[in-house]
Amino acid sequence: MTDLHKVSYLDIGGTVATVERTFVAIKPDGVERGLVGEIIGRFERKGLKLVGLKQMVVSKETAETHYGEHKGKPFFDGLVSFITSGPIVAMAWEGKNAAAIARNVIGATNPAQSPQGTIRGDLALDIGRNVVHGSDSPESGVRELGIFFKDGELLKEWNRACDKWITE
Ligand code: UDP
Ligand code: MG
Repeated sequence: MTDLHKVSYLDIGGTVATVERTFVAIKPDGVERGLVGEIIGRFERKGLKLVGLKQMVVSKETAETHYGEHKGKPFFDGLVSFITSGPIVAMAWEGKNAAAIARNVIGATNPAQSPQGTIRGDLALDIGRNVVHGSDSPESGVRELGIFFKDGELLKEWNRACDKWITE
């Protein structure tokens, strides 16, 4: 784990806090459908802090590394081909329990089982077009941020004036 992916900073009370970071990506369907602002807004409103953002076209190699755990599954080739089919928006979001919180904002893998109020529940119909990716644990977050972001591409430390109104 590097400083880039998990940062320490002095909080309001002067104690050192470690803040979790997680990887979220708007998939090519979300970008194509003009949902970038809608999706980013949901994480912002939740209170998570955007500490990295870029639009990119993912290479086949990167996609296969990112989705390595699914290699050999029936949907793997289609997933890699889909995720590389157009631009994605890659993001790093920071906050207390960032990975679990981001997964709650995103919802269930299958939009048909994802409650209203979640991104996939509100904006998607099909498991293969579920508009957004989110790391499934803090450890996956570190791994995936390392795949999509290089040193210097994530903010090291940024204290917002509103942080004290979001995190105790
Ligand atoms: N996926 C699919 N068919 C399946 C299972 C997964 O197309 O039967 C796709 C889907 O886009 C999903 C991605 O593969 O988001 C990764 O699957 P995972 O189980 O990791 O779901 P996630 O973590 O994205 O909720
Ligand atoms: Mg997953």
